[in-house]
Amino acid sequence: MSLNCVFCNKLVFGTTGVTVPNQGPAHQYCYQAHVALKRTFQSLDISALNESEFNDLKDLVLSEANERERKRRGASDAGDIELF
Ligand SMILES: [Zn+2]
Repeated sequence: MSLNCVFCNKLVFGTTGVTVPNQGPAHQYCYQAHVALKRTFQSLDISALNESEFNDLKDLVLSEANERERKRRGASDAGDIELF
């Protein structure tokens, strides 16, 4: 196994390193930068999804948004016709 940082590809020396689960060694500062920048929701790393998974998630979020909007309107004026 390589001892190069999974983020910057430079060698990780002894105690300055951390191990990223499922990825390998990394510099502590590289890892912290990565954690600060990565797009996660709860335990889901959105940037790790492939194109098709990401589109599924997007559709899911959009349909949930529509559903909530429908409920919100339904609460204010029930029986109204959907205008899309
Ligand atoms: Zn690094």
